[in-house]
Amino acid sequence: MTGHHACRACRGHDGQIVLDLGNQPACDYFPTYDDPGPDPVYPLQMWLCSHCGLAQLLEDPTVPEEPKGAEPAALVAQAADAVGRVAAAGLLPPGARIAEYGSPHGGSWLEMLVERGLPPVSSGGAGGSSPLGQAEPLGEADEADVILDCLGLMHAADQQAAIAERAARLAPEGVLLIQFHSIDTILRLGQWNALRHGHYAYYSVTALSAMLAGVGLSPRTAWHFDLYGGTILLAARRIGEAGRDGEGHAADDTIRDLLAAEAASGVTTPAAYAALQQDVRTRADALRGWLAGLKESGTSVLGYSAASRAIALLRLAGVDADLLPAVADASPAKLGKRMPGTSIPVISPAELITQAPREVALFVSDLMAEVRAAYPQVEAAGGHWVDADILR
Ligand SMILES: [Zn+2]
Repeated sequence: MTGHHACRACRGHDGQIVLDLGNQPACDYFPTYDDPGPDPVYPLQMWLCSHCGLAQLLEDPTVPEEPKGAEPAALVAQAADAVGRVAAAGLLPPGARIAEYGSPHGGSWLEMLVERGLPPVSSGGAGGSSPLGQAEPLGEADEADVILDCLGLMHAADQQAAIAERAARLAPEGVLLIQFHSIDTILRLGQWNALRHGHYAYYSVTALSAMLAGVGLSPRTAWHFDLYGGTILLAARRIGEAGRDGEGHAADDTIRDLLAAEAASGVTTPAAYAALQQDVRTRADALRGWLAGLKESGTSVLGYSAASRAIALLRLAGVDADLLPAVADASPAKLGKRMPGTSIPVISPAELITQAPREVALFVSDLMAEVRAAYPQVEAAGGHWVDADILR
């Protein structure tokens, strides 16, 4: 079924729903704990464009207003790693004017780039609009030699407009750096809970290359990072432009290898997504079964991380406070709130430590090393951290 949806990137109408997570609350909406609900819910579905191959959010009736979460150390460490690797490739020359399109989830590179002698021009925002929601006027001052988009582009509802804005600001010899959580990773690792309201696009190098071509850019090289199980940083230039560093016009082996891997896994074909949909039910049932078993045996359990990806899993699993009494989170903005669409309160990490649960279900597995180091009291009291996705 296609409905009347037009592709957010190419405006094509042909495509199909490849992942359906049912009705979910807006994950950025955290009701206060004493708000009885019911919380409003909306369809959460991924649609795959038959023409350009971009996986995207089908509908989003919600207005994203996320309490800014604590910036994960994993994101900060990856940014430093990435800046080092991009600089080593000669793409961050001192004096190059830098513009950054940030993510509401943190992970800005700007400070590190300024320290390297790259002056910032007026910054873009997620979705390419000013804080007032108006399109920023383009002018000389807005042109940049290096435009960095670190997990920002996916927050734009209109992908075609967002990529066009970035391209329009790029100096003739400039480089556009786009970092994204790869759909190939999402498929390979079964990360169906990456799908969420407010995240409008789930990129492959294949689909992103088509978007870039539409605005006169082409990918040249890419770097792979382990962040989120597989994150790609792609460097693009104007088609036909060699760039100041004198590199060739064509994509290098890293791009060709990524495109070949994506062709093999079928990221632009609906069949590749079937396992993802099956995995949804399997994981939700497994989580519910595990929590029910703990309750039956009288084993104490709490959750950690009120991240958006936790919410779909808890909802699909039908888990409420009777099975999971609370979820701890380091963000002060979420304290005193409920996990949306559930009766589960959000508590502070200090409260989690005080309760000394036997099991702690961690909903963001990337944080495993970080939370074990930050809260040694959990294991000192005989508790175990458990990855909620795999229950180990
Ligand atoms: Zn499309």
